[in-house]
Amino acid sequence: MIYLDNNSTTQIDKDVLDEMMPYLNEMYGNSASRTHKFGWEANDAVKLSRERVSSLINAKPDEIIFTSGSTEGINFLIKGVYDQYSDKGNHIITVKTEHKAILDVCSYLENKGAEITYLNVNEDGLIDLEELKKAITAKTVLISVMYANNETGVVQEIKEIGNIARKNDVFFMTDATQAVGKIPVDVVEDNIDLLTLSAHKLHGPKGVGAVYIKRQFPKIKVTPLLHGGGHEKGYRSGTINVPGIVGLGKASEIAKKNHPKYENVLKLRNQLEEELCKIKGVALNGDKDNRLPNTTNISIDGVDAEALIIKIRNEFAIASGSACTSAEVLPSHVIMAMYSDEEKAYSSIRISLGKNITEEDLTHFKSYILNKINKIRVII
Ligand code: PLP
Repeated sequence: MIYLDNNSTTQIDKDVLDEMMPYLNEMYGNSASRTHKFGWEANDAVKLSRERVSSLINAKPDEIIFTSGSTEGINFLIKGVYDQYSDKGNHIITVKTEHKAILDVCSYLENKGAEITYLNVNEDGLIDLEELKKAITAKTVLISVMYANNETGVVQEIKEIGNIARKNDVFFMTDATQAVGKIPVDVVEDNIDLLTLSAHKLHGPKGVGAVYIKRQFPKIKVTPLLHGGGHEKGYRSGTINVPGIVGLGKASEIAKKNHPKYENVLKLRNQLEEELCKIKGVALNGDKDNRLPNTTNISIDGVDAEALIIKIRNEFAIASGSACTSAEVLPSHVIMAMYSDEEKAYSSIRISLGKNITEEDLTHFKSYILNKINKIRVII
C-alpha cells in the first residue's frame, strides 16, 4: 500500500526509533532523579532534545515545554493565557478554518464567558489582514492563527499577523503542528509568542509534542496545566516521557536538515497536481502558492469523496475532508469556510505526501485514481 496521508500522521524514522530504544529499556531513569546515573543520563537526553526542538524553530531551550502533543498544547496555551489575562479582557481572535482542537477550546471558553471572533477566509483559505486589524479591541488577549492548515496545506501570512499582534500589544499564538518539519518556522522572525508542535507529524513518535512560550519582551504568563511536582518549570507536572521526548528531539534534528528534501516533494506534488487538475471537473482547493509542499486538496465534481476513497483504499491511503461523527458524515468546515459549498466539500480529497515519496508511486496513483473517478463519476 502507498501511504498518502502524512498530514494525519507520519511513519517514525528509523534513526528516531534507534535513538529512543535505549530509553525504553536499559536507560530507564527518571529525569527528575538527581541522586544517580540513571536519572542523570535521562536528564541529559531531555536537555539535548530541548536544544534540538528549540533550534528547529529558532527558540531558546528554556522556552520549550514538553507536552503529549498539540491538542494538549493548544488546551494549555489558550486556557492558560485566557485565565491569566482576565483583568485585561475576555476576547480571543481565531479563524474559522482552525483545527478542531482550537475551535473546541474556544467554544468551551465561550461557554465560560469568552468572546471569540472567528475570522473568515477567502477562497484561497487566507485571512484578510484588514479584518484582523479591525477585530482587535482593548479586550483582546490572544490572536490564534494556525501556521498551515491540515486539510488544504494553506500557509497564512504569519509574519504579518505577528507584526499586527505586536503593534497592538496582543499575544500571538500559532498552531504550527503541520508546518514544523515541512517548512522553516522561525519564532523570532515571525513575531510568534506561543506555538504548538507535535512529534508524530514530523516522523517522531505519537503522544509527545512541545509548546514554545516566549520568555522575554514580553514575558507571557500562562497558568500551569498540571499541578504537582513542578516538572517542566511548573507548567506541567508529572514524570516526563523520556523516550518520547528523545524521539521528538531526534525528529527535530533530522527535520532541520531535511527541509531541502521537501523541495523534491514540492516538485512531485506540483507534477501530480498539474495532472489531476487536467481531469474535467477537478479543482484545487486553497492558495496555489502559499501552501505546504506536500499537500494537495482537490474537489472532483460529480464524485463522492467517501465512495472514491472506498474504491482505492486497498492500494492507497488518502483522506477526505469530511468528519465522521457517530451519527453522520459532516462536510469539512475548512472547505465550507472557503466556498460555502456542501457539494464541493463532499467531493474533496486530501493527498499529503511524505518526504520519501517517489515519482513511480505517484504515477501509479494518478492512473489508478483516474480510472476509479471515471467509474464512479455521475455524469457532469
Ligand atoms: N493542530 C493541527 C493543525 C493538526 O493537524 C493536529 C493533528 O491532526 C492537531 C492540532 C492535534 O495534534 P495532536 O495529534 O498532536 O494532538
